[in-house]
Formats: sequence, structure tokens, C-alpha cells
Amino acid sequence: MNNIVEKITKIVGSENVLLGEDVTSRSDFWPPMGGCQAAAIVRPANTNEVSAVLKLCHAAGQAVVTHGGLTGLVGGARAGKGDLVLSLERMRSISAIDTVNRTVTVGAGVPLQAVQEAAEEAGLLFPLDLGARGSCTIGGNIATNAGGNSVIRYGMIREQLLGVEAVLADGTIISSLNSVIKNNTGYDLKQLFVGSEGTLGIVTQAVLRLRPLPRTCNTALVAIENFDHLGQFLGDMDAALGGTLSAFEVMWNDFYSLITGDGSKHGHPLKPEHLFYVLLESTGGHEQSDKDRFEEALEEALGSDLITDAVVAQSKQQRENLWAIRDDIEGLTMALFPPLVFDISLEIQQMDAYVDEVRRQLSERWPNSQMVVFGHLGDGNIHLVLTVGSHDPAEVHAVETIVYAALGRRHGVISAEHGIGLDKREYLHHSRSAEEITLMKTLKRALDPKNILNPGKIFASLADTEQ
Ligand SMILES: Cc1cc2nc3c(=O)[nH]c(=O)nc-3n(C[C@H](O)[C@H](O)[C@H](O)COP(=O)(O)OP(=O)(O)OC[C@H]3O[C@@H](n4cnc5c(N)ncnc54)[C@H](O)[C@@H]3O)c2cc1C
Repeated sequence: MNNIVEKITKIVGSENVLLGEDVTSRSDFWPPMGGCQAAAIVRPANTNEVSAVLKLCHAAGQAVVTHGGLTGLVGGARAGKGDLVLSLERMRSISAIDTVNRTVTVGAGVPLQAVQEAAEEAGLLFPLDLGARGSCTIGGNIATNAGGNSVIRYGMIREQLLGVEAVLADGTIISSLNSVIKNNTGYDLKQLFVGSEGTLGIVTQAVLRLRPLPRTCNTALVAIENFDHLGQFLGDMDAALGGTLSAFEVMWNDFYSLITGDGSKHGHPLKPEHLFYVLLESTGGHEQSDKDRFEEALEEALGSDLITDAVVAQSKQQRENLWAIRDDIEGLTMALFPPLVFDISLEIQQMDAYVDEVRRQLSERWPNSQMVVFGHLGDGNIHLVLTVGSHDPAEVHAVETIVYAALGRRHGVISAEHGIGLDKREYLHHSRSAEEITLMKTLKRALDPKNILNPGKIFASLADTEQ
């Protein structure tokens, strides 16, 4: 290791090779609490430096763990004792925005929020949005195929990505910085790196697709008494709003009552007695007609008893107050301590029975357990946040088994957003067939034959026989 570190120092400069306490004072998970165990953290300035570092690591068989903003929640960035961390924190360039083609080229270490702000200054929208926007990076977003609040309208980052530059395990630079929407010249190589969690290559730059900045935004919180009405209401609003529905967030009563309960800072925009709450939003281009269309669609839903109550935000502040309820994950995890957090996907028609089954099994084993449910229902993605009063690994494992086995039986997905990392790899077989996992390993071996890029993430072993 010492020999490599010396050579790497010549490439990136001594101030960009962190050792000892400079490493342990940093974290490799969220929320950051220090304790990174890597042998060294290297901070290259550009793609050529990443390539030169990887060439050395490849020759020496040195394991490399890539760090973005460290907001991933499945242990994907966790580094072991002998690992070398490659942090992209210095690669924060944002090119001039092309307002005609609506594109921007950014370094992989740029925080998501910086891209959103740069787009807005140019009168455009970068529609990817998630709670960790201030810390998470575009490289990390690509490596995890991040989604978030507006997936229902714009899709995940996969749909916002036109081109990628990445460095392979042996240092080869794949500069695929395409900037046109239509490009069918052979395999779409950028997609190889989307959701690959740092195991197939290190993303160094990306060309992102921007959209027109919406001029109007209509937001409402509505109450619903019947799970079947949720799907119907979603379909009706989507049709009535002509493709402008940009958020459809559902909170089960347990979530809403907990967050707006006694002593809460949020108040009660709607009484806490309803079974479900939907926070929905539509963005568009014409103030009066968008407002009229939004309110008419809600009135129609009220008239047909699909929804039982509704409050429409009358100002930016009221909109923010409604979103603050949905986004109060900190309040949630403090109330349900120690929290266990799951992000899963399944067909909307299956969700009600699934949630009932998990809740029943949890309370049979832990009578004092508590669980709340919420999520981006429009994308089939819900979050379960629960506590069984313990973080003991055996108890956590028992909870995971309940949550994922019930999901596997319904052909659900064990990771809607956060990836597999270390924490979910044992359960991958619930959502992927043996043949799919074998093909993934074949790809990994082809691109990284020495298994130096984020080894042990997604799969415990690259042997075909071990899932
Ligand atoms: C409060 C909060 C809210 C969140 N909400 C959402 C949400 O709504 N939707 C969602 O999808 N996720 C969400 N997340 C999870 C997380 O923010 C995303 O997974 C994010 O995309 C991770 O980006 P990062 O830069 O922090 O990556 P990191 O955590 O640093 O890394 C994540 C993985 O990507 C790899 N990686 C990082 N950078 C690169 C690179 N340049 N090249 C190759 N591999 C790389 C790492 O090795 C690791 O495996 C949330 C997290 C928090 C804390």
C-alpha cells in the first residue's frame, strides 16, 4: 500500500492524499459520524487523474471505493481497512448551460442542488429532486439511479442523462459525453453505469438534460378513506391534469398522525382522522387556467366521494408547510427510535395487503413495535419506517426477513431507490432471478476482472453458484 500511496501522491499532490486521522475523522455513511476505516482517501482533480490512479490500483489489485456525497443508505460507500477511497469532491465543474439544446455538462462531484440552482438561473429546470439534494452528488445520483419527488413526471436520473464519462477499473477512459436526445448508435453505454453503485466504473462527468422551468405550481393535501380510491384518484388526476401531475405523495394515517400529533410544529391542515392523505402537485405554464383545471379536478373528486376533504395551498408559504409534513423524516426517525428504514416498490393493487401482512407479523413478534408508511405512490414506491425498540443485528435481520419475504411473494422490489450496497445484498434473490444475478456478475467480471471496484457491494461473491 505504501508504495502505491507514494505513486498516487505524485499524481494528485500530497494535500489530496488523506491518511490516519484525516481518514478516521471522516465518515463513509449517512448521517456522518466519522469512523472511516480506509487506508487512504484520494481526491483527484480531473478524469485524467482518476484514470492514472486506477491504472496503479489495477496493476496492484488494490480495492477502490468511490465516495460522492455519502448520503446513500445501504452501505454502498462503506470502506474496509485495506481499501483506498476515491473521493470526487474536487470535481465540481458546471459548464455553461446550453439553453437551446437544454443541456449542461457537470463534474461527478457537483452537489445536486448546485445543478438545480444553475439550471434555474438559466431559466430552466433540472427536475431530479430529493431530500439529500444539498449533499448528494450527480456521480452518486447516477451510480444509484436516484429518483425522488418528481419521478412521476420526469422519471429517475436515467431519464435525465444524455451522456456520461467514466473510468474503467484498468484506467481506460470511456468518454461518452453525448448531448443529443436521439442516439441509437449501438449499445447505450451510459446505462451500464446507471445504478451500478461504483462496481463497473467511476463516473467522472455527465451531460444532463434540462426542462422548461414551470411557471405555475398548484399544491393540495387531500383526505381519502379507502385504499382502492387512491389508485383511482391518481388515474383521474393524471388524466384531468393532462400530464402535468408532478407529485403524488401518499401518507398513511399512522404517518400523518405521528408527524402532526400533539406538540407538533406542523399544525393540522386536515384533521388526523382520515385513513390516507395525498400531497399532490401540478406544475405548468399558465396561472389562471392551471389553477382552474387543478381546482375543478379536485371538486370533481370531492363530488364523486373519491376524496373526502381537501386543502389547496394559497401561497408559497402554505405550499412549503404542506411539504414540510411529508419531508419531516427527522421528526419521524426521532419518534421511532431506533428506526429501521425500508424503501420498496410493488404494484399499487398489492400495497394494502402487503402493508397489513408486514404490520401483523411485526406486532405478533414485537407487540410494542410501531410502523408508519408513506411514499411516492404514483411510482409504486413506498417507505416503511419502523421500530422494534432494538438495533440488535439479530432483531434487525428478523425484521428484514419479514419485510422482504412478504415482498418477494408479491414480486415486489427490495430497493426502489437506494440500491443494494452491503445492506441488501443478502435479499437480492427476492427481486432478481438466478439468471439475472448471473448476468450481472458476468458484466462485472468483464468490466472489472480483478474485482477492484467496490468489491463485495451488490454481491457477496462473484462466483456464479453463490447468490
Ligand atoms: C434525507 C435523505 C433523503 C433521500 N431521498 C432519496 C430519494 O428520494 N430518492 C433516492 O433515490 N435516494 C434518496 N436518498 C439516498 C441518496 O441520497 C441517493 O442514493 C444519492 O443518489 C446518493 O448520492 P451520493 O453522492 O451521496 O452517493 P454516495 O452515498 O457517496 O454513494 C452511493 C453509491 O454510489 C457510488 N458512487 C458515488 N459516486 C460515484 C461515482 N462518481 N462513480 C461511481 N460510483 C459512485 C458509491 O461507491 C456508493 O456505492 C436519500 C438520502 C437521504 C439521506
